[in-house]
Amino acid sequence: MSICVSADKVLEKFILSKKDLESSFNRVPDQEVKCAFGMQGICCRLCANGPCRITPTTPKGVCGATADTIVARNFLRAVAAGAACYLHVVENTAANLKAIGLGQSDISLKGTRLLEELSSKLDLPGNNVGEKAVALANQVIQDLYRPRHEKMELVEKLAYTPRYKKWTELNILPGGAKAEVFDALVKTSTNLNSDPMDMLLHALRLGITTGIYGLGLTNHLNDIIWGEPRIRLAKVGFGVLDPEYINVMVTGHQQALVGILQDGLSTSEAINIAEKAGAKGFKLVGSTCVGQDMQLRGAHCQQIFAGQTGNNFTSEILIATGAVDLVVSEFNCTLPGIEPVCDAYGVPQICLDDVAKKQNAEYIAFSLAEKDTIIQKVIETAVERYKKQRPSVKVDIPEHGYDDVVTGVSQKTLKEFLGGSYKPLIDLIIAGKIKGIAGVVGCSNLTAKGHDVFTVEMTKELIKRNIIVLSAGCTSGALENVGLMSPSAAELAGESLKAICRQLEIPPVLNFGPCLAIGRLEETAADIAGELGVDLPELPLVLSAPQWLEEQALADGSFGLALGLPLHLAIPPFITGSELVTNILTKDIEGLTGGKVIVNGNVEDTVNELEAIIMAKRAGLNI
Ligand code: SF4
Ligand code: SF4
Repeated sequence: MSICVSADKVLEKFILSKKDLESSFNRVPDQEVKCAFGMQGICCRLCANGPCRITPTTPKGVCGATADTIVARNFLRAVAAGAACYLHVVENTAANLKAIGLGQSDISLKGTRLLEELSSKLDLPGNNVGEKAVALANQVIQDLYRPRHEKMELVEKLAYTPRYKKWTELNILPGGAKAEVFDALVKTSTNLNSDPMDMLLHALRLGITTGIYGLGLTNHLNDIIWGEPRIRLAKVGFGVLDPEYINVMVTGHQQALVGILQDGLSTSEAINIAEKAGAKGFKLVGSTCVGQDMQLRGAHCQQIFAGQTGNNFTSEILIATGAVDLVVSEFNCTLPGIEPVCDAYGVPQICLDDVAKKQNAEYIAFSLAEKDTIIQKVIETAVERYKKQRPSVKVDIPEHGYDDVVTGVSQKTLKEFLGGSYKPLIDLIIAGKIKGIAGVVGCSNLTAKGHDVFTVEMTKELIKRNIIVLSAGCTSGALENVGLMSPSAAELAGESLKAICRQLEIPPVLNFGPCLAIGRLEETAADIAGELGVDLPELPLVLSAPQWLEEQALADGSFGLALGLPLHLAIPPFITGSELVTNILTKDIEGLTGGKVIVNGNVEDTVNELEAIIMAKRAGLNI
């Protein structure tokens, strides 16, 4: 059987042992031949005169659109879709916080300290926790729904001040987030905007809405509801599955929705039901970013949360262990490929958000008012599968994963760990013991050398060169499952980074959790820049989303560019068919925001390039 290779050799061996399992890993060889027009972004099928494909001898579409226009349109459409995904998540999260604040649910807020801090920072009204929660949620929702000509109010209050000034100067402060997405679609429809620069600046505005709202505020609101992260050791990998429990796999990005199961499946009534069925109780099993979010806040749900199993492309394989009794999904990255695997193993699916509705899943519209009904349905469905299928399905859980992954790292917990300020880290950077910081973020894909291969190889090379790595996204699922987020990974780091990690008993790759935590990385960078008194582009800090996958990653990347950070991608974002767009994103934009895209598909060359940037930034700071 020919399959896509993985950086995770235990996983790869397990896939090969499942001769009848069809997964994304098997489908890669069949899809290896790629369309060159699509790859370069020079295919347009916006109207019935198309699809038009640009070549040297046919440099324009029927309407006259050039490669530059077509590439910019395609790029902006992708960024708009990615931004929309994150905005959907923050809107749902705010709606839930508001419902809780209004007393429409018996959920009690676990992060009231953060609520107080934000209320005072944002100057929000409210005499008690409930009123403050409502005021914060209302402010977020109002900003999302402003017209495009009205600037969103929280940007100024939450963005790093030098960046806010830069965005004002560049005229890229976003108006209402939804209106920005809407007009990006209008702008890129047939025979409308043909100006690549205007479209790329629009992508930066969408990047800002993604970063401040979709990422940062989603984290804050979820921290208020479910509790702030705390640093602790966690178990990861398929080994978190315990066949003696009824296992509910959660997948998506919205802890605001599936979080209701944390308490709901831990009650004595729920445990009694599980025990009657012959199990010890229920466990929530993390997959994709919602699992990373639960792991990050795992200190608040230790009893029920079994641990994080992996990333998007391990989800089909996880079901093939036979030990999953129910899949509850609410967003991406829930692969369509899980459906036949669920069918083969008799695993039912429940979906809580119709944007992620799977064909065979039972859809239950999420509403906090219906919380108890949803929990009851989840219990009944999972118990039924456990009773009917477990006796006939072979449970096969490989020895996979680690027991000592350092998790719960955030801008706040890292600062607390360092003694209340980033000064110790800054001193190590100034002394050259840590050369710089690399944010290795984003997705996992099955290109760029295979499943997580580029991500893992690049990270190993970065830490070898004494560059500390902070990870957020499915990259975390990759790096923790190969041991790079366990303290023993210190041995793989360069001499000075190794000594620091050994002394502090930390790994050289810090786990910030889900892709939403890219917002936490930005806040960490802003804190460090603030202590140094510089702007973000001056920091010896680089970003890499080596194995980016989705439109959401392009929206994240646009935020990185707006922040003025160098952003590496191992695979080009479908722009190379336009020299103009490629030049703007890889060169000219540096003169505007300070950031730029670096496309490099070779690990060694990439790390050389990222290290050179870090050294140049160090020189700029005279360190
Ligand atoms: S990318 Fe465009 S040209 Fe290529 S196969 Fe798809 S539709 Fe056709
Ligand atoms: S919009 Fe222009 S380039 Fe696109 S398909 Fe229609 S004619 Fe072709």
